[in-house]
Amino acid sequence: MNGDWKKYVSLLAQETTESYPLRNPHTREKIMDIPECTNEQMENAIKNGVEAFQKMKALTSHERAVILERVCHIISENKEEFAQTITLESAKPIKYARGEVDRTVQTLKFAAVEARKLEGESIRLDAAPNGSGRDAYTIYQPIGIVGAITPFNFPLNLVAHKVGPALAVGNSIIVKPAEKTPLSSFLLQKAFEEAGLPKNALQVITGDGPRLGKVLMEHKDVAKISFTGSPTVGKQIKSQVGLKKVTLELGNNSALYIDKSVKEKVKDIAEKAVVGAFSYNGQVCISTQRIYVHKDVSEVFLTHFKKATEKLTYGVPTDEATDVSGLIDAKSQNRILDWIKEAQQEGAQIVTGGEKIENGIQPTILTNVKQDSSISCQEVFGPVVIVNAVDSAEEALAKMNNSEYGLNAGVYTYVLPQAFHFAHELEVGQVFINDLPTLRFDHMPYGGIKNSGYGYEGIKYAMQEMVNRKFISMNYQF
Ligand code: NAD
Repeated sequence: MNGDWKKYVSLLAQETTESYPLRNPHTREKIMDIPECTNEQMENAIKNGVEAFQKMKALTSHERAVILERVCHIISENKEEFAQTITLESAKPIKYARGEVDRTVQTLKFAAVEARKLEGESIRLDAAPNGSGRDAYTIYQPIGIVGAITPFNFPLNLVAHKVGPALAVGNSIIVKPAEKTPLSSFLLQKAFEEAGLPKNALQVITGDGPRLGKVLMEHKDVAKISFTGSPTVGKQIKSQVGLKKVTLELGNNSALYIDKSVKEKVKDIAEKAVVGAFSYNGQVCISTQRIYVHKDVSEVFLTHFKKATEKLTYGVPTDEATDVSGLIDAKSQNRILDWIKEAQQEGAQIVTGGEKIENGIQPTILTNVKQDSSISCQEVFGPVVIVNAVDSAEEALAKMNNSEYGLNAGVYTYVLPQAFHFAHELEVGQVFINDLPTLRFDHMPYGGIKNSGYGYEGIKYAMQEMVNRKFISMNYQF
């Protein structure tokens, strides 16, 4: 162990003797050692979590909401420390890291609001022929321990998307953060401690995903697994959890259609699309990856899009001017470079970029890409976007739906029936008309179909998946 790791790491994890090196993705230099927690420590955390659950469920919803409100205040007061930590461990450019901290505060504010609102319903039993003489209603009860397994790309907000709803309903939660980005979770845990959360209601256990995940998934006292990450791991988890509740928030190859009816706005859209395609180097589950443009406006779109893309600054993530930086690891960098080469060999042209730059990749636009090319049909999770011209809206719709994923999609059109047609026919969980697919508000229902997921997040919707609904009938004529 070295550096100031104790500042971050929880007491439980500090007992660990094994460790692994945490690297700055931009420079690939070691930042500090992180505890490689043992299976026994995970089991101890579950034991602690059982006790903490008793305390959590005894709190009123008002008391839980107050803790969540306090934590929002603590994070806001320490915004720069949270942002610098995100940047340090993930190489997310600082301006985007600050945005993630702001969103985390929003996420937890929504959790505080929803904590006070989780209400059941009254059921008219006398609607059934033999149901008279009874009052009936439902209540929601917390389920126990939630096991949260999270990805590297939003190391704070995507943890908050599990912690907020779990605590709002009165559960306890154990977070197994991505190996590459554990520090933000530790900071969040400290903020909750300071806010007065009962001891061990939120615990962070770091180390190997498959090994520690298995302990969580197989333990009888863990009631639910909430996972955000890659579809490959999501499928493994689904097959391992048995009868436990599970939510899976997985990947996508988000598509956008730009219709000829928005001709006057094409320059604006091109400038926005740069942010959708390249923010955090495209390492965003809803990054704009496939753009289909009506042939009448495709040339003008490409000209503006190329110009705006070439203005992006590659640099050190802590620098205020930096737009793009190093990718999360060499494996990811090599895979994306291979996919670019494969697309070129299949006839695609590079409009801009296409080359390695230090530990990153230049923001890259490809055109005339085949639909079954990996860079189109797989999730790139990097700074690469394809722009293909289409003859009609129908052709765009068919190509957008020709995907094994189904998370977000976007359509720019001024033709109202066309907008409704896309809204109904797109095979995704969320459709954005006249916005990019790279959009999420933290309280909206958010979940994928096909290989993009199972279940929903968005505070209220995540809470509904972290409770048991109980039906109660009172026979008052007995
Ligand atoms: P990943 O699947 O490699 O890892 C995610 C987490 O799973 C990590 O904590 C890891 O340790 C753990 N893990 C790995 N193997 C495991 C196993 N066998 N059992 C249990 N846990 C295991 O994902 P990543 O590279 O960190 O993140 C990128 C992926 O996440 C992309 O596919 C992206 O689209 C997806 N993502 C989805 C959303 C969404 O909301 N839909 C949001 C962000 C990221």
